[in-house]
Amino acid sequence: MSESILQIAIPTPLRRHFDYRPPTGIDPASLQPGVRVEVPFGRRKVIGLLLDVAERTDVPRHKLKRATALLDTTPVVSGELLELLSWASRYYQHPIGEVVQHALPVLLRREAQPARRGSEHWQLTPDGLAAMEQTLKRAPKQAALLASLQARPEGANAAELETEHVNWRPVLKKLIDKGWVEMSLRATLPPPSEQRQSAPTLTGAQHTAVEQLLQQRNSFHCTLLDGVTGSGKTEVYLQLIERVLAEGRQALVLVPEIGLTPQLVERFRARLNTPVAVLHSALNDQERYNAWLAAREGEAGVIIGTRSALFSPLPNPGLIIIDEEHDLSFKQQDGFRYSARDLAILRAQKLNIPILLGSATPSLETLHNARQGRYHHLHLPERAGAAVFPRFLIQDVRGQKLEHGLSAQLLARMQQHLDQHSQVLLFLNRRGFAPVLMCHECGWHARCARCDAHLTVHRRQNKLRCHHCGSEQPLPETCPECQTGELLHMGLGTERVETALQEQFPEARVVRIDRDTTRRKGALQELLRQIHAGEVDILLGTQMLAKGHHFPDVTLVGLLDADYGLYSADFRASERMGQLILQVAGRAGRAERPGEVMIQTHHPDNPLLAQLAAHDYPAFAETLLQERAQAELPPYASLALVRAEAPDPRAALDFLQAARDSAGPTGADQPLLLGPVPSPMERRAGRYRAQLLLQATDRQTLQRFLQHWLVRIEQLPDSRRVRWSIDVDPLEMF
Ligand code: ADP
Ligand code: ZN
Ligand code: ZN
Repeated sequence: MSESILQIAIPTPLRRHFDYRPPTGIDPASLQPGVRVEVPFGRRKVIGLLLDVAERTDVPRHKLKRATALLDTTPVVSGELLELLSWASRYYQHPIGEVVQHALPVLLRREAQPARRGSEHWQLTPDGLAAMEQTLKRAPKQAALLASLQARPEGANAAELETEHVNWRPVLKKLIDKGWVEMSLRATLPPPSEQRQSAPTLTGAQHTAVEQLLQQRNSFHCTLLDGVTGSGKTEVYLQLIERVLAEGRQALVLVPEIGLTPQLVERFRARLNTPVAVLHSALNDQERYNAWLAAREGEAGVIIGTRSALFSPLPNPGLIIIDEEHDLSFKQQDGFRYSARDLAILRAQKLNIPILLGSATPSLETLHNARQGRYHHLHLPERAGAAVFPRFLIQDVRGQKLEHGLSAQLLARMQQHLDQHSQVLLFLNRRGFAPVLMCHECGWHARCARCDAHLTVHRRQNKLRCHHCGSEQPLPETCPECQTGELLHMGLGTERVETALQEQFPEARVVRIDRDTTRRKGALQELLRQIHAGEVDILLGTQMLAKGHHFPDVTLVGLLDADYGLYSADFRASERMGQLILQVAGRAGRAERPGEVMIQTHHPDNPLLAQLAAHDYPAFAETLLQERAQAELPPYASLALVRAEAPDPRAALDFLQAARDSAGPTGADQPLLLGPVPSPMERRAGRYRAQLLLQATDRQTLQRFLQHWLVRIEQLPDSRRVRWSIDVDPLEMF
């Protein structure tokens, strides 16, 4: 009988596993899949993961190399997770080696036996806490640092301080010297807080939701918790998690990138009698590994993190929660393009545990699944506490003279709210001063030399900037074409609105929040602090402002241009616009000061806007679902998008045409191949881009086709000359 073969996942872009002979002296029968193995690969030695032990191989035996070492005695990837990763590799058509790599902490990919080492954390001392009041005015930098530390009673690490402060080390040193801050090395999670907050009495709707969810806690169920912002979804999560913990099981909570604030983590830590592991992008490799260990050893009862926390080890799984399930950040948009939400549902199914999807504005996919009876659907129709939902006003701006995008009606409302000492929030999803610079004399426009796009005017910096490739140039003073013409700033960006606001409301303190004003580390935190401290009257910003923050003093929200979402090339634009409008609206107002939302539009009769204004997200979603059904788009169809790009103008299109031809004629039971076509913005950063869309009636049809087709594409001679990728269930269509 011949020796068994190890099938190993190796971090390479090749879509396959690699066969090896077992290391000398190791009985392959004793090996469990999921252990790490060191193998020779090319001229290097690499760390791979054992997928399976097999009896046969397609490689001639004498050519097989021997693995050099076995690195683990127990699997670092459990059987359940390994199955999920293999499934994901097939479904998303991504190389298994890279998928496995994505699921493992960096230290386990690099080192044979990484140690659990402490990393530096800083905490406020009681003296520091006492000093906070008096420092606030005199030493703003120290005060800001103290505030960050106060928000994290369990300690902040360097990466966290780095995201919130500029040049903070010397400031921190001063605070340490004063005895206000102390440093500790920490390898384990902070223990649960001693004085835990008690839970509020649940509202009727919350109570019903918790009861129903508890009944289903011992097997797989997928439930949509559909409740407006502030309706108490997080409270439902907390009470469910308490029960899960009481049974000695773990809960995994996934939140959008922007939603993982220290306040949220603090809320979990203050309530739950368990160490909470937090996983996010600001951790260093050691911290990430420590958190991974805490999950794997069952020390952490709750693991809360962004997208990739989905792959955390869960030895005692009890519950998975996806908060804001509609959020785009759950889908990875490059490399391994997976949906953490969709994979989480599959993982819950494999683990036979419940999963809860929470949102105020569920995605159409999820609503559709709920209507089909695949998911349970629970509602929290009212805001918890006394706050009421704001009133919506649709402002017809057709034919009106706008002051830099602001209608007379909006200006008047703003004045009313400012007179009552409330804050006003204005939303415009376009940064810069103006999106187009044009010559009044000869019609010249400023275009990017590397992209098919206009350059945006940034007047404050005196620059023209491309928002697609980042290139920039000085703002010309005269027309480069005719040398004489007057240059016009066309269209509206946040910088321009800011200028207009300063003219219209000279007394008001205006803060602009967009990528330009928050580029510097710590800048966003500082602006948010000013807003919360009441040092700001008007908040103006892009969608950075719409998510994850609460602004209780805001009573008027103005959406300057709601129309872009109604008429975009991306079929998901109106869904996103609706979600965004309701999310922005949800940020505003509280009990004693109900809010108003004014939407400026050139299409006041658009039924979608009317439904949003009536707070009728279900009706809004229904209208969109009908459109999707008619157009045979998701959730009524399954899509995949192949994107390609190359410096040569024809190469990407030619490659995709060859890819399409390699499929041969497609029959009725196969996906439709649409394209190839140049991408909506064909040239970006000097590369020409094209795409080919696959549209199938269901996932199985698409999957069956992709498996054979991808093998052929990889063999096309051009497949190495262009950069190409496949996106299964794409959320962005270009
Ligand atoms: P969501 O997650 O839906 O936005 P939260 O759970 O954060 O809602 O609740 C919104 C606010 O209402 C929070 O300040 C929370 O403490 C409070 N809250 C939630 N449930 C209750 C309740 N049953 N009684 C009193 N206050 C509540
Ligand atoms: Zn000109
Ligand atoms: Zn460009």
